[in-house]
Amino acid sequence: MNSSINKRANFIRYSAIENMDNNLLAFENKLNMNGIDVKWISNEEELCSCIKSGFPKAHFNKVCFDLPEVPEELTNTNNLIKSISVEDLENNIESADYLITYANFGLVDTGSVVIFNHNCKNCFNKVDHIIFILDINNLIAKSSDLGIILSLYDRDIVYGNQHSVNIISQPFNKIICNNYQFEQGDAYSTQKVNISVLLYDNGITSILDNVKLRETLYCINCGNCKKVCPVYKINHKYSPIDLVKRNAFERNRKTSDVYENTTLCGNCDKVCPVLIPFTNLLVSEMENVANNDHEDNWRDFGKLATKRLKLNKMNGRFRRYFFIRRMFNNNKKLLNYFMAQQDDFFNLTNTKAEENA
Ligand code: SF4
Repeated sequence: MNSSINKRANFIRYSAIENMDNNLLAFENKLNMNGIDVKWISNEEELCSCIKSGFPKAHFNKVCFDLPEVPEELTNTNNLIKSISVEDLENNIESADYLITYANFGLVDTGSVVIFNHNCKNCFNKVDHIIFILDINNLIAKSSDLGIILSLYDRDIVYGNQHSVNIISQPFNKIICNNYQFEQGDAYSTQKVNISVLLYDNGITSILDNVKLRETLYCINCGNCKKVCPVYKINHKYSPIDLVKRNAFERNRKTSDVYENTTLCGNCDKVCPVLIPFTNLLVSEMENVANNDHEDNWRDFGKLATKRLKLNKMNGRFRRYFFIRRMFNNNKKLLNYFMAQQDDFFNLTNTKAEENA
């Protein structure tokens, strides 16, 4: 994977990250001009207190969350927020004051938020207020570039589904009717649905300060690297992008986490549509830690670097069998996984070229 569309996508993300300061200010300005409230949030603590304080409205208690993970503090029964499920809201079983979801991207030139494939998309006209949480690295400077980025996501071929994309640029009106059935002659009125955007840092600026790791911010969350990672398939702990990024937050970094959660197979390098160089990032991060730290780190790094290299070179089944038994003896799941692989899995590097060299 290194087609012109991937190079173009890489450039779009590169420009967005390198000009993040200017983009954020321009985006906030545009949102305000469109009548959308904006608040800057640094971390989860601030996010919770902002939502609990009722930003920007003082009194509410029923909230529908459509987030990958809702902070525990918000769902804790001691606080005044009652959490409503998307299904209940969609099927008119419950009502909600607020809908809180995340936005996939912000378009700087139009001051819009883009969401796609969200469960809550049919609930937009059922609440008084929608809050979008947007990670500050997920800006696209020119809306004309959105098509290129969206084209990099998998289509669901099995069911023939297309992605559902919503672009929201300003508050809108919903129709209110006393009778849910909307029969002819019923009186109805309109009511404004307010929109707010929380620009969420969540550690992104500390990654931005790291010259090597800032490339990880190009990620568009397509999920491809997760799908091809042999270790994630087994332990569901860190996707390759999470594994690389988490090292930026660890004070007492050790290579052991990286060592245990990657085989350096390079599959993620091949499928990332914005060309994030995972293997280089992982190896260089391990080198950094090993240089600054204890002997253990060197040992782990040495083990990891040689492990995959050796596996790739082993074209004899018996040799490979003994090697796998030795390397993964303490991790039965990984042991079984590698034992079950076919020959082509182990030929990710061009071994013939290496042998001839
Ligand atoms: S492959 Fe992984 S790192 Fe690359 S864009 Fe997709 S989710 Fe992000």
